[in-house]
Amino acid sequence: MSRIAYVNGRYVPHRQAAVSIDDRGFQFADAVYEYFAVFGGKLADAAGHFERLWRSLSELRIDPPMSETALKAVIAQTVRLNKVRDGAVYLQISRGVAKRDHPFPNPAPHPTVVITAKPVNYAAEHAKAEKGVAVLSRPDNRWGRCDIKTVGLLPNALAKQAAREAGAYEAWLVDELGFVTEGSSTNAWIVDAEGVLRTRDTNANILRGVTRRNLIDIAQEAGVPVSQRPFTIEEAKSAREAFITAASTFVLPVVKIDGAVVADGAPGPVSRRLRALYLENAKADAV
Ligand code: PLP
Repeated sequence: MSRIAYVNGRYVPHRQAAVSIDDRGFQFADAVYEYFAVFGGKLADAAGHFERLWRSLSELRIDPPMSETALKAVIAQTVRLNKVRDGAVYLQISRGVAKRDHPFPNPAPHPTVVITAKPVNYAAEHAKAEKGVAVLSRPDNRWGRCDIKTVGLLPNALAKQAAREAGAYEAWLVDELGFVTEGSSTNAWIVDAEGVLRTRDTNANILRGVTRRNLIDIAQEAGVPVSQRPFTIEEAKSAREAFITAASTFVLPVVKIDGAVVADGAPGPVSRRLRALYLENAKADAV
């Protein structure tokens, strides 16, 4: 079946879908995006992703191209046209098309909106979670506004590539003080020696992961203590457990950090339980 993409008001075959070479997303990474998991044709954690999308647009002073209701309808139609039951939706909004010049175009062009949907083989993803993955630490050399979900992801892509070349799945980014900020496309967590779940606080230069936010609540409800306190790579190596979260990975256990095996090298009980609880909640609340 051929894939269909939504581009600026039209549903078009994926291969023919295109935007202008003068699009500011292409020229300046002047664009934001969201990635939603889809369960049974419905969006997971929709409220959190939309809230962050509106915030990202507002931080860049891009006017919303349509209402949330309209955007939800377009996403739903894209999911339907692609016959996606379990998969993912990618949505990107750029400032629009204008003659190449750094300042914002005046008057503001209509934002460019692109939406795609694809099936994901979640059985394979669950099998990956059963084994756990390796991470590689890299210096965090990104800009200072990682709280905005922009498509300016070159440092993230370079870090991820370095990880993959080292046989690791994800890169953990480390700030100048030696603390882990987050992964290249995920948030980073450990269960420390005291059994406390730790992840970086949102005053740090990180993306406010929607999965991260929801998992904090889920963990607390399940009686797992949570502390938003930074940790180092050394602490992570000697942690009881480690994992990453994102809409693309859910809760994915980390069993190796810079070649050092975490605990006994198998996904731990807290990570496994939180993955199951997260998926149960996300599927029940999908809209
Ligand atoms: N951190 C970064 C840098 C990301 O790119 C992402 C997801 O794309 C996340 C964290 C996880 O965010 P979420 O849970 O909202 O998918």
